[in-house]
Amino acid sequence: MSEPLDFPSLWSHEPHSLLMFGPGDRVADIDANATPGFSGTKSDAPTLQEERNVRFAELQEMLYANSRSGDTRSVLLVLQGMDTAGKGGIVKHVVGGCNPQGVQYRSFGKPTAEELSHHYLWRIRNALPTAGHIGVFDRSHYEDVLIVRVHNLVPPEVWEPRYDEINAFERELVDSGTALVKVAMFVSLTEQKKRLAERLERPDKYWKYNPADIDERLKWPAYEEAYQAMLERTSTEYAPWHVVPCNKKWYSRLAITELMIEALKRLNMSWPPPDFDVAAEKKRLAKA
Ligand code: AMP
Ligand code: MG
Repeated sequence: MSEPLDFPSLWSHEPHSLLMFGPGDRVADIDANATPGFSGTKSDAPTLQEERNVRFAELQEMLYANSRSGDTRSVLLVLQGMDTAGKGGIVKHVVGGCNPQGVQYRSFGKPTAEELSHHYLWRIRNALPTAGHIGVFDRSHYEDVLIVRVHNLVPPEVWEPRYDEINAFERELVDSGTALVKVAMFVSLTEQKKRLAERLERPDKYWKYNPADIDERLKWPAYEEAYQAMLERTSTEYAPWHVVPCNKKWYSRLAITELMIEALKRLNMSWPPPDFDVAAEKKRLAKA
């Protein structure tokens, strides 16, 4: 198999650096329609997506293979975004290209009674990827500074220290060998309305619709503020946030695939060498 280019020419800028949240960046200024760094068009997307999914899957397999010989590293994709931003589509169309054996998916909804009786990071710690796996969080500990802040589910003196606490937690995670890929997915209010309307038109989409989505939508200004604070206070050098415009699904999927490929490449892996004598095994097999 010929190896696809690791930085496909259809990107004029590498998404990893281009989409990284930087000081001074404002959530209010995000253009959810934009396709930053991509020089191709929508018609290029299907072929490129397929090709990059192959590369992603190959790197994922290498991560898994290395864990069999003692490498304890893992990668955790954290997806945050308002309803209809396309988190499920990333799981299906990007992560779905990988061997499920090496993927550990977890979604985080309203905490259960048991979860609420513990520290908010308890359920997160229990869901961290094990050695050699790609973990996917569909929502995450960041809900505890997003919906919790917006709805005053706990008072400010409780959520306020969480930013620092999350940074310390992620530092610990990274130090123990889990690379974090944090993605904030942004859909515009207009596009969100369109997607919610579609869920109400199509019987095969009713299951995705939740009447509460409209209540969250009406709170967008408060969410904007909460997302701004989250990005400013928890985008660190060891676990930066990436901001992905998501009105065009083909773009967000391509971009997040590149973010995952980049994270895996940074692990500098190669195929694990045999822990047996290949020539001798060939001879044995020939006679067996
Ligand atoms: P969905 O991802 O569409 O299944 O919706 C899950 C819902 O659970 C979203 O409205 C989240 O904001 C909510 N949720 C997730 N984590 C928390 C949390 N820690 N506290 C309260 N609500 C949460
Ligand atoms: Mg939902």
